[in-house]
Amino acid sequence: MSQNKRTLIIIGSGPAGWTAAIYAARANLNPLVFEGAVTAENQAKNTLPLGQLAMTSEVENFPGFPVGDLTEYLRTALDPDRLEYLPPHGKHGITGPELMELLRQQAINFGTEIITEDVVKIDLSARPDGPFRLLSSDGEEYESDAIIVATGAGANWLGLPSEERFKNFGVSGCAVCDGALPRFRRQPVAVVGGGDSALEDANYLSKFASKVYLIHRRDEFRASHFMVERTLANPKIEPIYSHVVEEVLGDVKGGVTGLKLRSTKNMDADTQEIAVSGLFVLIGHTPNTAFLEGVVELTEKKYVRWTQPGRTFTSVPGIFAAGDCADSVYRQANTAAATGCMAALDAGHWLAEQ
Ligand code: NAP
Repeated sequence: MSQNKRTLIIIGSGPAGWTAAIYAARANLNPLVFEGAVTAENQAKNTLPLGQLAMTSEVENFPGFPVGDLTEYLRTALDPDRLEYLPPHGKHGITGPELMELLRQQAINFGTEIITEDVVKIDLSARPDGPFRLLSSDGEEYESDAIIVATGAGANWLGLPSEERFKNFGVSGCAVCDGALPRFRRQPVAVVGGGDSALEDANYLSKFASKVYLIHRRDEFRASHFMVERTLANPKIEPIYSHVVEEVLGDVKGGVTGLKLRSTKNMDADTQEIAVSGLFVLIGHTPNTAFLEGVVELTEKKYVRWTQPGRTFTSVPGIFAAGDCADSVYRQANTAAATGCMAALDAGHWLAEQ
């Protein structure tokens, strides 16, 4: 047997990947997780190890972590080398990086093996009699009997330097994750986007914010009819049609304080400023599935297609998918962890049948 032959390889290190690893390790499948490479290119693409949660601040909606001082818990749960780079805790909700470190540690505790590289290619040429062949970003070849893909997705951003500067200081890509934070409560906020996500999240934010500006680049929303009707009936939401955000305004101390908007209809018109404490950029997501092109079936929007309702099977027997790389609807840490668990169980049963 090749030295690089495994029973189960898991690609991805967000909540889906680690939960799959915890379940697979406990089922004696000896999983190997490719957690992603630490490179400038991955940093630019937001695909560094530990995924999207590692880039968020507090995670208030992950079950089991009410606000409290977790200092002692983190000190005793995590490897000192990994704890070192986390800021001191204090009495607040668990942060995204802390949660991800705990998930990673839990997977290690059950014997998960980790490689800090990407998988860049999956070769099916030996299937169905032989193993899957995988190529990693450092040029190593691996073989596996089964694969769980859990590579996640990245929120699309506007690409403004000022947007980058205020990420986590008032600029967010997830209203459900960040909307209830104190900085947005009883303050005006803005959402950019015209799809179901933007409108749904504008409604969600209206529960906390004093007012929600909904900025869309066209004069017609892309979202479903029902969602548009509901949104326009919400007295706290003010649509601003045919405008784009040109600059996020703010200061180092207070974070976002306003937005500079430009008309898309009248390019000669002066820019307009609005005062807001936050900007939620909800202009779609891009799943991290480029390396799966031609390997498993992808949807029109490049998500991995789950081929049976309620299961994690893909178009290729032996390859399972979990988390945001296959989920264009829920995209939550909880749902990712849940489908990671399902993928490990599906993979375990499938391997036992082979
Ligand atoms: P989406 O439908 O692709 O909409 C993205 C929106 O962002 C569009 O309105 C687009 O404008 C705008 N946009 C894209 N790039 C932009 C840019 N650079 N600057 C300004 N605006 C930009 O994405 P989504 O809303 O995330 O929805 C994804 C899928 O999930 C959809 O199929 C949706 O129906 C589904 N979903 C369903 C629900 C639900 O049923 N409850 C909730 C959320 C999402 P244009 O319209 O001009 O292209």
